[in-house]
Amino acid sequence: MKIELSSFTEKITKLDKDFEPEAIGLEEEGFVNQINLEAHVIKEETNRIWLEGQVNAHINSNCDRCLEPFVEDVSQKIRLLFDPKEKDNKQEEDTFIVTSDTLDLAKFLKDSLLLAIPSKHLCDPKCKGLCPQCGVNLNEQSCECEIESIDPRLEKLKEIKSKMED
Ligand SMILES: [Zn+2]
Ligand SMILES: [Zn+2]
Repeated sequence: MKIELSSFTEKITKLDKDFEPEAIGLEEEGFVNQINLEAHVIKEETNRIWLEGQVNAHINSNCDRCLEPFVEDVSQKIRLLFDPKEKDNKQEEDTFIVTSDTLDLAKFLKDSLLLAIPSKHLCDPKCKGLCPQCGVNLNEQSCECEIESIDPRLEKLKEIKSKMED
């Protein structure tokens, strides 16, 4: 999946591509469903070319709170500048700057998506998780457990008090 950036002759070219995770080597990372790239290739008067847009994908996850499997959205904004006058390929803030006109789109999208995988996985922001005592999924049922929450500072005071009483 290589593209020649200079082959875009229009000032603005719209890209809208769907492809399978296999196509960019992401099936082993747990990516599922189609991956969609929506972007624009913008050609400047100079020889600079921008590729700007967003890539949207899905990954099989397990919720950190209730441990249930779910399909999580993974999306990432992409911004790449092709500038033959630059010296090296580098990254500046949110922009990848490349000097080679031939872009390995598969590799670029794969790297972008791998960075976009969230470190915390929640099936829902309101997920109630599991009861720490009986382990039921509190999204599906409630339980009779009474959760005692003891302020650790109060706990310390109690200890000190009992020691003084000894
Ligand atoms: Zn959950
Ligand atoms: Zn419980």
